[in-house]
Amino acid sequence: MNKAFKFRIYPNAFQQTQIARTFGCVRFVYNRMLADRIRHYEETGESLSNTPAQYKKEFEWLREVDSLALANAQLNLNKAYQHFFREQAAGFPQFKSKKSHRKSYMTNWVNNNIRLEKGSIILPKLKAVKIKQHREIPADYRLKSVTVSQTPSGAYYASILYAYESHVESIKPETFVGLDYSMQELYISSDGETAAYPRYYRQSLDQLKREQRKLSHCQKGSKNRSKQRLKVAQIHEKVTNQRKDFLHKQSRQITNAVDAVCIEDLNMKGMSQALNFGKSVSDTAFGTFVSMLDYKLKEQGKQLIKIDKWYPSSKMCSSCGEVKKTLVLSERTYHCEACGAVINRDYNASINIRREGMRLLLA
Ligand SMILES: [Zn+2]
Repeated sequence: MNKAFKFRIYPNAFQQTQIARTFGCVRFVYNRMLADRIRHYEETGESLSNTPAQYKKEFEWLREVDSLALANAQLNLNKAYQHFFREQAAGFPQFKSKKSHRKSYMTNWVNNNIRLEKGSIILPKLKAVKIKQHREIPADYRLKSVTVSQTPSGAYYASILYAYESHVESIKPETFVGLDYSMQELYISSDGETAAYPRYYRQSLDQLKREQRKLSHCQKGSKNRSKQRLKVAQIHEKVTNQRKDFLHKQSRQITNAVDAVCIEDLNMKGMSQALNFGKSVSDTAFGTFVSMLDYKLKEQGKQLIKIDKWYPSSKMCSSCGEVKKTLVLSERTYHCEACGAVINRDYNASINIRREGMRLLLA
């Protein structure tokens, strides 16, 4: 199994320059390879398999950065092609913009080139970078890769991926809970409980909205605008961290409480498009929450059960099993015409999800 640990790092001035250069080279190689593939295809009708190594002759400066980071740019490009051709869900690979706020590169462990050493992380071409390691790594974990990233407000992080052998015996589930996705509250459980985002999180969200509005009124290119943009970026990071903390706590609490968790197998991307959340901060929360649940449960030999997305969890009455033909999204209360049950729509669905999960598991 794999597990990632994300720590803040504090590169010195030289290291910051080197990291920025690596971001640039990774983007350059990615874009260059993409452009050449497109041109080759247009000219010959055939696909081109190019590698970063080919470009090092022409562009000497590519040798100055971590070559594994460049190799990963190639892997990412190949993946983007695969997504496009096989899954048809994604569009054609896009060029990476210099203005993108997502700055990161990934590098791999080879011959102990990456390691943690009292208060530092040794990284290729950077040597020892100061790190704030707030969690110990178990001795039998094997380091696989590191993703170095920089947030829009300027903070640096290292997300370190480890592989480990799981010695956990899976337990025979006796207690179950069903969770139904809720846009407002994250979820509602078959015990009738909601996650309910904490007040401080909602306050930060409001603050973010306010400051974003202010930013939109700042004159383009002005000093005030860049100041305000930094402020927005900082609040954005605060919101992200608060949300992550909250999701960790919620998933930990549920994992400790039951043996198996049943959820609907939602296609988050499809759902966010369908409901048009746009850039809402809430849209990815449930997906993140589910993956946290998944690994926390696995660590304890417990299970996450995904229910087919076509299962009529919302349309079925949890009291008598009657299935409605239509149920519009605005109907927040479920009224059963067969047995007269009146129940909160999401609560009703979570009870059905729990029942179906148990059926699948015990079948
Ligand atoms: Zn009923």
